[in-house]
Amino acid sequence: MKPEWAKNLRGDLQMHTRWSDGSGTVAEMADAAIERSYEYIAITDHSKGLKIAGGIDERALKKQGAEIAKLNTALRESRGILVVLHSIEMNLNRCGEGDMSPESLSALDIVLASFHSSLRIVEDQTDRYLAALRNQHIQILGHPRGRIYNFRIGLSTDWPRVFAEATQLDKALEVDCYPDRQDLNLALLKIARKHGTRISLGTDAHHPWQLEFIELGLAAILRAKLPAERIVNFMPKEELKSWIQTVRTRSVARK
Ligand SMILES: [Zn+2]
Repeated sequence: MKPEWAKNLRGDLQMHTRWSDGSGTVAEMADAAIERSYEYIAITDHSKGLKIAGGIDERALKKQGAEIAKLNTALRESRGILVVLHSIEMNLNRCGEGDMSPESLSALDIVLASFHSSLRIVEDQTDRYLAALRNQHIQILGHPRGRIYNFRIGLSTDWPRVFAEATQLDKALEVDCYPDRQDLNLALLKIARKHGTRISLGTDAHHPWQLEFIELGLAAILRAKLPAERIVNFMPKEELKSWIQTVRTRSVARK
């Protein structure tokens, strides 16, 4: 049974499968999500720019989409509530630009993007963050600081400005619940609360059992006293879809 404070949680928006560097199949991740009574999960395998993590190109992404569509049909037929969202963890370069074609991204249900390189730069990286947030194809910025416990402290930026920009664009910043990351941390989540920024929870699971990491993210948002309506994964499926659609339409209109 879910604890009282976690009852609003509908799903998990970052996880990897065998398509890139995860150990489970899409179906195995879905089974683990069903055990947690989730309404949705997003499959976010790495994109082609991150070769070290087996990142996939547009062709593989399309094939993965077909696998997910088939699985969703089977889930519907078995009258389950889970829907598997086709997403990606798009790699962003040091200028905040992605590495996948716009067509491949617009075919996805939701797009998460993250920095994986030039993460030890000490100078202020605000421009990189603002460029990433303004990328019209992205709805969620993954593990925003790039911090890893006992390994890397992460990037520095003008956080209030980054959160304000995300709020202005109605985009979300992620709490990556992976124990070594826990990024955003509590101090940054308090800035998010002040600016009314949307927050997405993703376990960054690389094995089905790692969906349990969600509890670290829930604990962080609880401690930061973030309002439930700002948590992306607290939205029911239809509301989540309409938020994504709105962000996409606004992004295109702004171009
Ligand atoms: Zn990542």
